[in-house]
Amino acid sequence: IYRLIANPVWRHDQISGAVLVLLDVTEQVEREDLRREFTANISHELKTPLTSISGFAEIMQQGFVKPQDIEKFSGNIFTESQRLISLVNDIIKLSQLDEGSVPYEPEEVDLFSLAGQVAARLEASAGQNGVNMAVEGEPVFVKAVRPILEEVLYNLCDNAIKYNRPQGKVTVIAKQKDGKPFVSVQDTGIGIPAAEQGRVFERFYRVDKSHSKEIGGTGLGLSIVKHGAAYLGAQLTLQSRPGVGTVISLSWDQ
Ligand code: ADP
Repeated sequence: IYRLIANPVWRHDQISGAVLVLLDVTEQVEREDLRREFTANISHELKTPLTSISGFAEIMQQGFVKPQDIEKFSGNIFTESQRLISLVNDIIKLSQLDEGSVPYEPEEVDLFSLAGQVAARLEASAGQNGVNMAVEGEPVFVKAVRPILEEVLYNLCDNAIKYNRPQGKVTVIAKQKDGKPFVSVQDTGIGIPAAEQGRVFERFYRVDKSHSKEIGGTGLGLSIVKHGAAYLGAQLTLQSRPGVGTVISLSWDQ
């Protein structure tokens, strides 16, 4: 995609010619398209829970709800509000990564102990899903912005639990691999079809819309992982087989 810019050349108060500049703006236009699409998606994603909240509240306010149903209605309002909060939080995290305006400094972080902390935060959720979670490996240090690394690992483990099978397993491995700091999150879950593997890192992309909706999530988790990994200077790899499981790993050349 090119943009043509024409500038007149003046000579003795008369136009004697023109300078034509042909700019390759493909990348710029693509970025603008992505931004426009993202804004449209955000508006839609924010509107859905807000419409529910407003609808439930209105019905309650008008006194149409039987006393025994009040708990259910207020529960719906609570769930939808929580969803909105997660969405807004994820959008803020993504825009910080996008703009490089992350308000934290890098420090030496032990991948192994951080993985243990993330696993502890997700223990209750793993229990509810009947998933067994284990952290393996050894202490391994990397210079990184800790809150971003924690967020990336949290999102990976959260997905590994959510998209698992009953009695499934999640294994986080932190170690030095081929001389590089390495951490991976492996699950025994539903897997991601080969054709979808490139797309799951896109904003709001979800493989099975109805199934994912039931499971819950913002559709932004893996975008945060991708942008977070880039911010941390880590290589991100995904291996997955439907019905067998998924492994997503990060490694550093340092
Ligand atoms: P979500 O909030 O939907 O979990 P993500 O961006 O984290 O959003 O993931 C995008 C989609 O990729 C998910 O909706 C799901 O379809 C798929 N996915 C992510 N992680 C896994 C996994 N470990 N196993 C199977 N599918 C996964």
